[in-house]
Amino acid sequence: TGTLYLVPTPIGNLDDMTMRAVKTLQSVDLIAAEDTRNTQKLLNHFEITTKQISFHEHNTQQRIPELLAKLRDGLSIAQVSDAGMPSISDPGKELVQAAIAADLPVVPLPGANAATTALIASGLAPQPFMFYGFLPRKASEQTKVLTALAQQEQTVIFYESPYRLAKTLTAIQAVFGDRQATLARELTKLHEEFIRGSLSELITWAAASARGEFVVMVAGAQPQPPVVSDEPLKAQVAARIAQG
Ligand code: SAM
Repeated sequence: TGTLYLVPTPIGNLDDMTMRAVKTLQSVDLIAAEDTRNTQKLLNHFEITTKQISFHEHNTQQRIPELLAKLRDGLSIAQVSDAGMPSISDPGKELVQAAIAADLPVVPLPGANAATTALIASGLAPQPFMFYGFLPRKASEQTKVLTALAQQEQTVIFYESPYRLAKTLTAIQAVFGDRQATLARELTKLHEEFIRGSLSELITWAAASARGEFVVMVAGAQPQPPVVSDEPLKAQVAARIAQG
């Protein structure tokens, strides 16, 4: 049988393509790409001549049996998304699950990913962290998710488009309170920038100047004070002292 390779691609800077990723894309029989025109530019840059097939959120179900049949026939396939790691807020998960269920080998390559790249320079606790990705757009669902996340003591990582950034930060602040947060803008690109501050400061910044791609990271909840009060103990101690 063939192998399904999961191949990360750059999130901006083409130099972040790994040598192994180039070699893998060159040596496989087929590349399953989220957007073949987009990936073709990458292939041209690295002089890779492998054939592509489209594999995106709208044809996942019809493509999976086709790709599994090719793997069973011994063809090796590399799955790529438009940027970064496949399956991370991108197509891939269902194909990976189907390949595992069919007992076909799945090999992931390490490489570019916006969330972890942003996290290590955020200044927030790098672990534990929780990667959420894109929040639901519907206000009621968004509030439900945020309410559940608000109790977590880990750093939370979101993806968001520039158009909704200020609105989403406002929604997070409404549920989380005015916590420390970091925006990572245009990672690996010319205008890479980190904006660190309270959520209210970031909202002001975003309302004025949100352009480009963003990762939003928010500090976890402070550990809650113990529920049991130490007042009785203090009173006892005070009484002893008074007795001398
Ligand atoms: N698969 C990708 C990964 O591994 O990071 C994520 C793809 S997701 C469809 C796109 C989102 O990732 C953007 O809306 C943004 O939140 C984040 N992102 C991608 N590239 C970025 C970059 N260069 N700088 C900041 N955020 C980025």
